[in-house]
Amino acid sequence: MTVTSEAGTVDTNMEITTGEKKSCWNCYKLFAIELAITSPDNKIFCSHYCASVHIDSISMKCPVCGNKFLKQDGIIHKAEYICSEACKQGEDPLRSPAPPVKSN
Ligand SMILES: [Zn+2]
Ligand SMILES: [Zn+2]
Repeated sequence: MTVTSEAGTVDTNMEITTGEKKSCWNCYKLFAIELAITSPDNKIFCSHYCASVHIDSISMKCPVCGNKFLKQDGIIHKAEYICSEACKQGEDPLRSPAPPVKSN
C-alpha cells in the first residue's frame, strides 16, 4: 500500500530549532526546554541556580528536627510548619514510651 503524502517540500530555510522555548520561573529568561531544570513542585528553570533560588523560597526549616523540607510537604502544627507527623511526636523529647503508672 502506497501512501502519497504532501511531503516533498522540506523547508530548508528554516533554522534548526530543537524545541520549544520556555520562560524560567525565577528569572523569566527564555531558554530551550531541553535544558530545563524541574523543581519538585514542577516549575521549570533555566539553571540549577534559578531552581535552587525557588526551592529555597518554598523550603522551610523544621523547628523540631532542623531538617529542610518543602513547604508543600510540611504540615502545620501549632501555627508552625514542621516536616512530618514524626516531628509532631518528636516535639516533646521527654515523652516516655510508656506512661508511668501512679499508685495512690
Ligand atoms: Zn532562570
Ligand atoms: Zn522535622
